[in-house]
Amino acid sequence: MRIACLAAAFCLAATAPALSWGASGHKIVAQIAARHLTPEAGQEVQKLLAAQQEKNMPAVSNWADALRAELPDTSQPLHSVRLPLDHRPYDAKRDCRKRGCVISALALNTTVLADFSAGTPARAAALNYVIHFVGDIHQPLHTSVDIGLRKVWLDGEETTLHKVWDTGILRRAGKPWKTLAEELDAEGACPAGDASAPLDWALEGRAIARDQIFADLRIQTVAEPKLGDDYLDENLPIVRQRLKQAGCRLAAVLNQALTRPAAPTAGDGPAGEPSSTIDILKSLFSIR
Ligand SMILES: [Zn+2]
Repeated sequence: MRIACLAAAFCLAATAPALSWGASGHKIVAQIAARHLTPEAGQEVQKLLAAQQEKNMPAVSNWADALRAELPDTSQPLHSVRLPLDHRPYDAKRDCRKRGCVISALALNTTVLADFSAGTPARAAALNYVIHFVGDIHQPLHTSVDIGLRKVWLDGEETTLHKVWDTGILRRAGKPWKTLAEELDAEGACPAGDASAPLDWALEGRAIARDQIFADLRIQTVAEPKLGDDYLDENLPIVRQRLKQAGCRLAAVLNQALTRPAAPTAGDGPAGEPSSTIDILKSLFSIR
């Protein structure tokens, strides 16, 4: 039984994802992360995957998009955060919207995942969401108020700038997702002690959208620009970097959320205090 049946009484057919890293991008992020889990986190992930009859993280990495296709839009958070395309700081009321966004959804689902007393279906769903949303928040057009729905032409076909960034650029790599995941993983170690948080990742993405994607004269000055291989080649390194960052950071989030707190010993502070969900949330989102 798939987790959707367990959690929400919905059984999902595989559906094409919309407005998100394409299926391959999410699988790459999940595959890189899976290679960097601690044994303890890895074991917990396997338990939550087994509960939904799945064997690996890439298999559930597009679940949140499939769910969105099945449920009313308003029941699901935005898979983006709509930061203004300037230098203003994040304002939850303005940028996150009422139904929630990728920032609030990551906070909520990471907390559920880290709560070992929560039910397995809820934690399995939270795992799937976290895997997906860490991917989405690294797609630059998921972090700006303009998500790039303008019409563009790619290799003679009408599409949108958003879709070019979701799938077109990665497709240009011309390799299967597993090969790309291996390649990216081999490109260098994940930075140790990366203390960045989802909001930092979103601000990085907004900077790419502001300073590169929308600053590009081909996009800025032409009504329906015709993009070709030169555009894809120039931007492929950015997509590769964002997928690698997402994979490493997803591993860090899962390792932190899925490490059981050590049992307090005599002389420790009040039981449970260091690992309360509010502390986990604060540390993940750099709230002091
Ligand atoms: Zn998505």
